[in-house]
Amino acid sequence: MNAQIVSVGNEILIGDTVNTNASWLGDFLNRAGFEVTYIHTITDNLDQIKSTLSFALEHSDLVISTGGLGPTHDDMTKRAVSELFDVRLTLHEPTLDYIKKIFKERNIPFSNSNHAQAEVPENCEVLFNKAGTAPGMWFYEHETALAVLPGVPYEMKYLMEKKVHEKIKEVFSESEYLLSRYLKTAGIGESTLSDEVLGDLSDYFNNGVSMALLPAAGGVTLRLNAKGATEEEAHDHLLSITEVIYDKAGKFIYGEGKEYELSEAVGKLLLKSDLHLATAESCTGGLVSNSITDKSGSSAYFKGGIVSYANSVKIDQLGVIDKDLDEYGAVSKQIALQMAIGAAERLNADIGISTTGIAGPTGGTSEKPVGTVWMGYYQKNGPHFAVKAMFTEDRLINKERTKMVVLEIARRQLKGIDEMPYDLKKHFP
Ligand code: ATP
Ligand code: MG
Repeated sequence: MNAQIVSVGNEILIGDTVNTNASWLGDFLNRAGFEVTYIHTITDNLDQIKSTLSFALEHSDLVISTGGLGPTHDDMTKRAVSELFDVRLTLHEPTLDYIKKIFKERNIPFSNSNHAQAEVPENCEVLFNKAGTAPGMWFYEHETALAVLPGVPYEMKYLMEKKVHEKIKEVFSESEYLLSRYLKTAGIGESTLSDEVLGDLSDYFNNGVSMALLPAAGGVTLRLNAKGATEEEAHDHLLSITEVIYDKAGKFIYGEGKEYELSEAVGKLLLKSDLHLATAESCTGGLVSNSITDKSGSSAYFKGGIVSYANSVKIDQLGVIDKDLDEYGAVSKQIALQMAIGAAERLNADIGISTTGIAGPTGGTSEKPVGTVWMGYYQKNGPHFAVKAMFTEDRLINKERTKMVVLEIARRQLKGIDEMPYDLKKHFP
């Protein structure tokens, strides 16, 4: 089954509003078993709305439009739909009563344009909108369904989850099941993962099984999809491809779920081995400890962090040796190592991790260009080493990458995986 999304609104086209509705709907429809073949983003223009909806209805089973339902004259969607179906707009009394009640409660005067909010094309089924004042609308003709929803994300989501979902299940009962899993990897590049680690998986891509690699600053996410006539069948198909991926790439996978973060994985491992972590951050300015403390319950394994930006703080708070700073510079193996020890010892933790680098865009030299970063790892009665990485010219990307790599170093140590992220080299004291 195919679906198309129509996003109506000038504000999206000029870049004022990011089209989060479309991405949310894409995910929702995908999970509901639809293949989304088009996302149209169009202006609040009557003819354009009509022609786009007409195209979408002709080429798909389900169309969802959002936006342009408001009470003002630039909101055209309702008129476009009524002209498209060649039907009149009629008053929907329950909606009118509801709007009047809301206005009264909020002490807002009721005007003519608010009255128009309660009008709908006469061939629609009203999707009562308790999250706002513009009603949603459902049309079903010639085995094609159309849902017309408000643009406000909160209202759109409410109507999708509470009303449209049911309608879809009712109308498209023959639908097949589509399930997804998101496997999150860190410390390996997209092409290495794809070409060298996973290799050719085409033998597994049947039964609606597919895989996408989604690279981002924090690592590559593997999205696995599978279809089935029943949920169980889809589940089985998904399980078999997942097992293959874990077999080949298991050590790079730190967890599952779209929103799952590396700091959470590190936290779980610390908790499991009853170890405490401390950080000493220079170039990341607290980003590492921030991401650790984003997770509820982190006090059980995180002691704290020292943002040692100035050399004096590295010396006074972490015990870094003054003479070494002069000799090797703050961005060096020696200092990264000393910072990691300092964090663990001064904060009474089992493990210390550190970051020191040239985030840029200024401060680079030919010997240490922008993007040079050293990260340290120290474990009481355990390994002690530093890793050097070369990142980009972009300050914020460098901070983000450093955070990710140092957390991934910690994760691999805790998992007993010897290999460093991106095959970087370990440097010992
Ligand atoms: P209302 O009944 O509240 O007036 P509407 O259907 O008229 O809703 P719009 O006026 O088009 O909706 O949009 C309302 C607000 O919703 C916009 O200011 C915008 O911030 C947000 N919005 C609209 N479309 C989208 C979209 N595709 N993605 C994210 N936000 C959106
Ligand atoms: Mg609008």
